[in-house]
Amino acid sequence: DHVYVGRALISVSDKTGLLDLARALSALGVELVSTGGTSSMLRTAGLAVRDVSEITGFPEMMDGRVKTLHPNVHGGLLALRDDDEHLLAMAAHGIDPIDLLIVNLYPFEETVAKGADHATCIENIDIGGPAMIRAAAKNHRFVTVVTDPCDYTQLLDQLKANDGATTLVFRQKLALTAYSRTAAYDTAVSTWLAGELQETAPRYRSFAGKLAQPLRYGENPHQGAAFYTDGSRREGVSTAKQWQGKELSYNNINDTDAAFELVAEFAGQGPACAIIKHANPCGVGKGASLLEAYKRAYHCDQTSAFGGIVALNQPLDAATAEEIVKIFTEVVIAPGASDEAKAIFAAKKNLRLLTTAGLPDAKKGGLAFRQVAGGFLVQDGDVDSITAADLKVVTKRAPSEAELADLLFAWKVAKHVKSNAIVYVKDGATVGVGAGQMSRVDSTRIAARKAQDMAEVLGLAQSPTIGSVVASDAFFPFPDGLLTAAEAGATALIQPGGSMNDAAVIEAADKAGLAMVFTGQRHFRH
Ligand code: 5GP
Repeated sequence: DHVYVGRALISVSDKTGLLDLARALSALGVELVSTGGTSSMLRTAGLAVRDVSEITGFPEMMDGRVKTLHPNVHGGLLALRDDDEHLLAMAAHGIDPIDLLIVNLYPFEETVAKGADHATCIENIDIGGPAMIRAAAKNHRFVTVVTDPCDYTQLLDQLKANDGATTLVFRQKLALTAYSRTAAYDTAVSTWLAGELQETAPRYRSFAGKLAQPLRYGENPHQGAAFYTDGSRREGVSTAKQWQGKELSYNNINDTDAAFELVAEFAGQGPACAIIKHANPCGVGKGASLLEAYKRAYHCDQTSAFGGIVALNQPLDAATAEEIVKIFTEVVIAPGASDEAKAIFAAKKNLRLLTTAGLPDAKKGGLAFRQVAGGFLVQDGDVDSITAADLKVVTKRAPSEAELADLLFAWKVAKHVKSNAIVYVKDGATVGVGAGQMSRVDSTRIAARKAQDMAEVLGLAQSPTIGSVVASDAFFPFPDGLLTAAEAGATALIQPGGSMNDAAVIEAADKAGLAMVFTGQRHFRH
């Protein structure tokens, strides 16, 4: 199953690593054929190369729309080398075999991401490239196809190890990569076109991702897993640079995403910190400094914060770094980090530091996926648009200004907590989080109970829920949850409203002297 590589066709937009590759191939005795830009770069570097127009007998035309679309190219890629009829056809039409195809496509995704105009985006839809990739991948029994500059080293290692040949397994793996690349490429085009039409439904039609990183395992060690990017280039965990520590795991990536998306809600609102465990916040805090924000998030539930994931909405500074390293933390993600902070982390080999160029855009949710047997669900990301002006005061007492600020803070946090979500907040920091319970009243109780436990740990005279405010991700169906919050000492509530029982819940709130506002918007997270 070894196939010797005699002739290679190289046609690349991303010229990274091109010259080194071409030189190495030349040295191995491989004949090089190439398209316009690629071949002139090779020739300038002093390499012997044949132009593809010589093979097709046609000049490259129509702004490069037609370069390689010709039987002499596609016949050379598709011919079965062990089929007499195919060999006769090659001989009859003067078609030479192409054993190796190196193609990367016009940068369509990058062009769209840069905000280019419609015509430029259209011109960046590669036609001949995908056609050749698919042809070579189909014929991987004989042809090797490389679509990513990251694979050049592998290719050369393979050729050197096999005296200038490639193995079937190797070609098969590359063919698989090739088809997933063309699938993702066409998806990017279709998604962009749908956006141009400003239609909602077509956005949900087809999906494919680009393999970003094979993972050691999934949620559990016996599950295989991989990390894919969707081509949107949304700032976040997928664009982050890792400075130190071992490779991120499936759970790390999932939790880091949850942490960073949460803290991004507080972009431009002063320093904020979120600490996440199992995709739920065990503490979120704002502060005059990042250090203070971190400490306040930590004090919400410092028992759970051990081994957690910390996200910051501002670049990590030295003072905060000093504080974070006092306990074991899995990952810290921030939009940047000072050199001093990096130096402090460097001593902690197991702590991963991730930085990005900015925060995720909380105003743009992208798409959210959920797998079900035999398919998957897709929806728009849960973007929250609630401001103070949208709130409807439903009780006799209106919230004070301080309560209002905490209510809005609690509401943003509740959006990132598994339903049924209950969040107690005091002075810009969570003091109790109830997550993922099947009954809302249980979430309300658990959060209050956790706060009481923390009061003991911190040696507080009273539970921090006294004088707090409460957010509920969905309406209270009965007064019991609200009464539990009142018992815990909460003074104000924020919730969507809309229950058949709203009147009874409002009456209970009035009786308890609580202030309550309705958002009219729900934040289920199942
Ligand atoms: P070059 O820089 O060598 O002039 O062009 C390389 C690019 O052209 C590659 O990204 C390749 O996928 C693309 N390409 C090759 N053949 C064709 C073709 O026939 N039509 C179009 N539209 N693109 C092609």
